[in-house]
Amino acid sequence: MNGTRYRYLMLGLVFFCCGGHVSVANEFQKITGQHLSLTTDLPSQQQAMDLVQSFDAAVGQWEAFFALPPESLATWRVQAYVMRDKGAFRDAGLIPSRVPDFSQGYALGDSLFVIEQPSEYYTRHLLLHEGVHALAIDQFGGTGPSWYMEGVAELLSTHASSGDSVMVNRLPADRESVPYWGRLKLIDARRDENQIPTLQSVMRYPADLNADAEAYGWCWAAAMLFSHYDEYRPAYLAAARAGRDTSPQFTRQFQQRLSIEWPALVARWRLMCQQIDYGFDWNREQVAIHHKDPLWDGSSLRTRVDASRGWQSPGIRIPASTSVQIAARGECVIAKREKDWSSQPAGVTIEYVRGKPLGQLIACLVPVTSSVNASTCEPLGIVAVAPSVTIFCPTESWLVLQVNDAPADRGDNDGEYEVQVSRGRSRPIPADR
Ligand SMILES: [Zn+2]
Repeated sequence: MNGTRYRYLMLGLVFFCCGGHVSVANEFQKITGQHLSLTTDLPSQQQAMDLVQSFDAAVGQWEAFFALPPESLATWRVQAYVMRDKGAFRDAGLIPSRVPDFSQGYALGDSLFVIEQPSEYYTRHLLLHEGVHALAIDQFGGTGPSWYMEGVAELLSTHASSGDSVMVNRLPADRESVPYWGRLKLIDARRDENQIPTLQSVMRYPADLNADAEAYGWCWAAAMLFSHYDEYRPAYLAAARAGRDTSPQFTRQFQQRLSIEWPALVARWRLMCQQIDYGFDWNREQVAIHHKDPLWDGSSLRTRVDASRGWQSPGIRIPASTSVQIAARGECVIAKREKDWSSQPAGVTIEYVRGKPLGQLIACLVPVTSSVNASTCEPLGIVAVAPSVTIFCPTESWLVLQVNDAPADRGDNDGEYEVQVSRGRSRPIPADR
């Protein structure tokens, strides 16, 4: 986007108020970029310019994400109104009467309306979010139902950096970089209450989410799941092309396309929601479970669990009513401070992550089938292996293991534990929820 010429204009808008007197409204700035013409009453010219540059830099990334033919968006242009004083824009006739009352943002065709937020990040986020809606309307004739519409808009507006160097579709590294965005905080609170919604319930959200940030957060989580796994992405992108359809048929067709994948997809949803946090890195956190994984015949098997990755599977499904013994040994690095911190499967008790020692080998059974009507997910049972454990698997499940650590802190981990999985003989312990 380098080389884009930006035109800047100060507008002292003149309008008639009720008494028939001529008044001068707040001065509006107008900045015209390649794809965005911004009219705003933000006092900072630098912030206004940053918004236009960020939008222009995002457009090429959106084009690539949706796999649009090159140059599809070359001549695409939208008008945006970023408002500190919404009343001034209404008085100036810049908000059409067709635009319903909105608290944060609204997209009407190629016009975007955004209320200034308490942080520059969040204002920019909302502008990009509404921009994705406008793109979907322009390219696909519509946005699809709310789980899709808001999910893909959140996915492609969550960003790092700004201006020419903005990078969309970035999970925030830390809370400080995304002030007032708050999605992960809301997800974390629900996780603590064991109230994680099922994927099905997110996909049944009503048409109007009333700017509910938590609902947006779950739509975003679903969008990440569908777009980060290679086996789901084609169906997810194909669904965008059906954006005119906002009926349940849209969702049914999408699910039909992924019907074989659905049990593993739901299991991954549960594991992702259990794990997701600032610094969650999809390159480390994809879970290799598959509907074709063979049903375990009970014979002893060995596997390795890499300390730098999230949940890992030995590549089997455990049959219902099976006792499984897991034993681990070895040593790995679980933090690099003044010197390396080493851990064995029991973990180190100087630091805890989600109530369990850092570096502890933990195991989880994720059922292959789950209730389609439940509104919240059954909490996952997670047990310490430390250094061996026998667990009872009541229903057919995938077994997954990880070295306990916060997702943001896996980058400095190194090494792996050796794990043996065999048929359990001793009395099993129930999973600790
Ligand atoms: Zn939206």
